[in-house]
Amino acid sequence: MTGSTPTRPRVSPPPRLDVLVIGAGFSGLYALYRLREMGRRVHVIDAASDVGGVWYWNRYPGARCDIESVEYCYSFSQELVKEWNWTERYPAQPEILAYINYVADKFNLRPSITFNTRVTTLHWDDATTTWTATTDHGETVVAEHVIMATGQLSVPVYPNIPGLDDFAGQRFHTGMWPHEEVTFHGKRVGVVGTGSSGVQIIPQIAKQAAHLYVFQRTPHYVVPANNFPLDEEYLENIKNNFEEYREIARNSPSGTHRKISEKSALEVSEEELNATLQEYWDRGGPDILAAFKDIRTNEAAAERVGEFIRKKIREIVKDPEVAEKLCPKGYPFGSRRLVLEIGYYETFNRDNVTLVDVKADPIERITPSGVRTESGAEYEVDALIFATGFDALTGSLFNIDIRGVNGVSLKEAWQDGPQTYLGIATHGFPNMYFVAGAGSPSVLSNVMISIEHHVEWITDHIEWLRQRGLHRSEADVAAQQRWTEHVYEVAKPTTFMKGNSWYTGANIPGKPRVFSLYLGGVGEYRKICSDVAARDYEGFVTS
Ligand code: FAD
Ligand code: NAP
Repeated sequence: MTGSTPTRPRVSPPPRLDVLVIGAGFSGLYALYRLREMGRRVHVIDAASDVGGVWYWNRYPGARCDIESVEYCYSFSQELVKEWNWTERYPAQPEILAYINYVADKFNLRPSITFNTRVTTLHWDDATTTWTATTDHGETVVAEHVIMATGQLSVPVYPNIPGLDDFAGQRFHTGMWPHEEVTFHGKRVGVVGTGSSGVQIIPQIAKQAAHLYVFQRTPHYVVPANNFPLDEEYLENIKNNFEEYREIARNSPSGTHRKISEKSALEVSEEELNATLQEYWDRGGPDILAAFKDIRTNEAAAERVGEFIRKKIREIVKDPEVAEKLCPKGYPFGSRRLVLEIGYYETFNRDNVTLVDVKADPIERITPSGVRTESGAEYEVDALIFATGFDALTGSLFNIDIRGVNGVSLKEAWQDGPQTYLGIATHGFPNMYFVAGAGSPSVLSNVMISIEHHVEWITDHIEWLRQRGLHRSEADVAAQQRWTEHVYEVAKPTTFMKGNSWYTGANIPGKPRVFSLYLGGVGEYRKICSDVAARDYEGFVTS
């Protein structure tokens, strides 16, 4: 990734460590904090020039969280909980980044982080039971354990469209937005992509641009965020009961306070269905996914919700042809990431916005002056913004040449999809741990809950090994197989594979099409992980 930021003085990584952490987002920072508290020699390396991970890189206009601020935060420090005041229900990127910076300052984390540095190789040595990392600065770090806090959505991708480099105007990707202020006043702008990032940036660009072309391939199901400022009394109340509040989320299916209805969407009348969905629509947020118990398991149930949303789009968007193009069809509601919006559909009522349906007329090439579609239509623009997503879950791991026992690469080991034990470790790669990635609830949960859980579990495991004088911990192949099968079994009755999205690897040509996120629920998953730990880390071979 590129990004020009004020550079901090670079700290060289120590050559010898107990634990190397890769990534200084929410995961890496908490791992650093916790291991330092445990007295371990720990250091973090990040390619970015500062802390923040996702919230460092995705600083595009409109970037915002879609989990409520009081839930999308750390819980490990009561003092931090008391000190920090969120201002909005769904915080915008600058506020989240300010929070992360506050955490880094409060716990004095930066001296143990090397920024502007990419880990390029990670090789295991069975004789010394250590990992050797090399960086793009030519440094070498030897560590007993490695924590891969490299992110789920940290490798932005451009689509494979011919002529991309020929474009003579300004080109952006939402996932590596520049640090300097960029404005689009008076400019003709094109946005490619209408997922979560596209839906957030499009209304913002429309307010500035002379003309905005939105290149949409698949319309997403998009629901209102209903964002609002938080009042002091509400915040105080949550802060005063924070541990209890958080514990409910930790034991819930999604890591939030969302309650899944016990009703089927197929058993209610049209009237009841509409009244129920209207309530969720007005309340805003992703809880509409829980309006009926079978939305993610029964296509007919999902379709009833989908139809409700299409009706809403037709009500909001004035031009019926444009409204029809914006209506998601042909895949079940809930099978792709639900997108929250602030003023998205209304944007298409503006005179300076044109929706271009590139499913009907695909982009043929990027030309020096803009976008040409297969029909020969030319869209001349001064700036092109790609909101085209990420090589999710495995992208940041495969970008590193990771070689485990006998020099086997992680890429080879996972060529048919991720194989993990609990999502935390993988056979053949001892003393390596993944935070909130494939094989765990990960991005299908409030990721902050999942991050804290994984970091605590992993660091406890490292401490457990140390106390017993053990230097090697590897996922047992049979335990891994059982877990991987269990992950697939749980996903099988759901509609997720029907969504053709990054959840299944469908957005990356050649990537194996597997659904590798654990859908058993956050609470259930935590219980399984605790049981494994209580049984002396059953399923791990330690020596
Ligand atoms: P990241 O924040 O991705 O950090 C990984 C870090 O690792 C990056 O800084 C990267 O530079 C570094 N890195 C990777 N590879 C290397 C390498 N080889 N060498 C050195 N450094 C490396 N989740 C939610 O629960 N709710 C939300 O509302 C939500 N919104 C999101 C919005 C956006 C725009 C995106 C992209 C994701 C969102 N997510 C959300 C998911 C998000 O990934 C997690 O919530 C969380 O921020 C991940 O934190 P992390 O520390 O695990 O990874
Ligand atoms: P995404 O969901 O993968 O969306 C990428 C978009 O680009 C899709 O609309 C896709 O169309 C389109 N696209 C890709 N290649 C194209 C091509 N060749 N021609 C035309 N269109 C093309 O990526 P994202 O929006 O960045 O979101 C990724 C994830 O990040 C989200 O699902 C979410 O988990 C997280 N995120 C969260 C928030 C938030 O609200 N908190 C904000 C941003 C991101 P197709 O659908 O047809 O492939």
